[in-house]
Amino acid sequence: MSTLQQQIQRAITTLFAPEDDGLRNSLALAKAAGLPDIQISPIQGRLLQFLAIACNARKILEIGSLAGYSGIWLARALPTDGLLITLEVDPLHVELTKSAFAGAGVEDRTEVREGKALELLPQLVNEAPFDLVFIDANKGDCLHYLEWALRLSRPGSIVVADNSIPGGTKLRFPEEGSDEAIATYNQRLVTDPSLVSIALPLDEGYTDGFAMAVVRQEA
Ligand code: SAH
Ligand code: MG
Repeated sequence: MSTLQQQIQRAITTLFAPEDDGLRNSLALAKAAGLPDIQISPIQGRLLQFLAIACNARKILEIGSLAGYSGIWLARALPTDGLLITLEVDPLHVELTKSAFAGAGVEDRTEVREGKALELLPQLVNEAPFDLVFIDANKGDCLHYLEWALRLSRPGSIVVADNSIPGGTKLRFPEEGSDEAIATYNQRLVTDPSLVSIALPLDEGYTDGFAMAVVRQEA
């Protein structure tokens, strides 16, 4: 990426999306535990907050916690009686996320649930609707996650998937079948008449980012 692009990214981050101690602590915990550096960027975190507040989010669902970095951004967009539920399959990641949430002072509005997302999602039916769903786990199941997100949402809910830019690769774990799954995901976003969608490259190299959809009010 050119220096100019980097400078612009940094300027936006410094002005609009500075990290605080809670976010930096989550990154430090992940690094100390040897986790890969695959968190969303600060600009992505700020965009998630922007979207959550724009849709008046009180309940947010995240699929894929890692060490709580994106979850802290999301939790901070909630009112004090709001709730973020984040789903995570890896027990170590669950512990790191809980610890990062406590360090950021958001444990009162967060719940970390351990298990495979596809097994945990059916248990959320009674807790729906979620105002915002952030999908950022294994990419092979992303279409199933989208189907669950739509089932658990309301008109006006927003569904964001990370690492879902057509052709984007930078932050994605190499995973069998993920490109096909992401292509099908994006196809669904643009053909479902109940959704209005857009994808935006947002990471530092503009090679990866969010695919986003808002559920239309019924006509
Ligand atoms: N959202 C985080 C990054 C998540 S990385 C951030 O930006 O800060 C992807 C996470 O998804 C990893 O922690 C991985 O363990 C988890 N994951 C992978 N497969 C999963 C599954 N089937 N169910 C739940 N979590 C899963
Ligand atoms: Mg990601």
